[in-house]
Amino acid sequence: MKYSREENPTVRLLERCIALLEGTEDALAFTSGMATISTALIASLEPGSKVVVPMGMYSTTLQLLNELASRIGVRVVRVRPSAEAIAEAVDREVSLVLTEVMTNPTLKLIDLEELQHTLPLDRVLLIVDNTFITPVLVQPARYGASLMIHSTTKYLSGHNDAVGGAVACSSERAKLLWEWRRMLGTIQPPFESYLVLRGMKTLEVRFERQSRSALTVAEFLLEHPRVGEVMYPGLRSDLNHDTASRLFRRGLYGAVLSFVVKGGREEALKVMRRVITPAPSLGGAESLITMPAVSAAARYIPPEDRRKLGIVDGLLRLSVGLEDPEDLIEDLSKALEG
Ligand code: PLP
Repeated sequence: MKYSREENPTVRLLERCIALLEGTEDALAFTSGMATISTALIASLEPGSKVVVPMGMYSTTLQLLNELASRIGVRVVRVRPSAEAIAEAVDREVSLVLTEVMTNPTLKLIDLEELQHTLPLDRVLLIVDNTFITPVLVQPARYGASLMIHSTTKYLSGHNDAVGGAVACSSERAKLLWEWRRMLGTIQPPFESYLVLRGMKTLEVRFERQSRSALTVAEFLLEHPRVGEVMYPGLRSDLNHDTASRLFRRGLYGAVLSFVVKGGREEALKVMRRVITPAPSLGGAESLITMPAVSAAARYIPPEDRRKLGIVDGLLRLSVGLEDPEDLIEDLSKALEG
């Protein structure tokens, strides 16, 4: 018999599926994406450790790093979200790089292939949060990443009805993280693991459909006179398009897009309230929309970083769900016409 704070057969089944999906030897499931990130960071950092992160990382991850900086003296270097800026910041003292494949909400892509060639991966631990892009499009382990993090709350469970997280890694690292998870008590309970497992059976079809719909919606927004800018790597005009086409499989570009409503905050708020449920999550069957400049997340991104990242007042982030894209376009069209 096993004690479920340590392991459980349903949780183990989920972990084996996540390892297969990410192409790693093993994986561990946690109560949430943040439980995964905090356990992984606590296990990997010591007082004085130096970490490089791109600004524009998930805001609670940045908040956690700030706390670790003030409490145990972890040194955190925040850089522009690009592989070049990350590599430039990695000096001899840096032991860990934590990044996402694509930062949120302005969708800046980190070129993992470039990172693989420029980082000294023999002494720097590369942790990649793959929540947004999922292993359906990219497996960061192929580019030398050691830990792949997921908020399974998003695409892996996929129905906006479960909270969870996971890390995929080698068996050796999994053993170390297993001990920390046991001590911190951050294992995912069996019922939530079952929900994630059930959701994962349709991950590929959901993500493909959602990504294709996102491109259709992005193309519609690009032509709309009330929209200033559309950020989506699937658009040929997007700065990240070529890199995304090289890194991502299947000719897909993910299912989150961001756009700027002309007229600033008030106009964007009106559009947001007229269509699609405003909610801070993403990756589920239902489309969800948020306004990054007023969401809780913005509190933890310093104003100068927000400016550099292009988080302007009129920005809306749309997580495209499984609805008919023509219905979404009709709703957005009505909302934008006011
Ligand atoms: N990583 C990313 C990229 C996220 O977007 C989120 C949440 O939105 C998290 C981690 C944290 O996940 P959770 O809410 O499951 O703790």
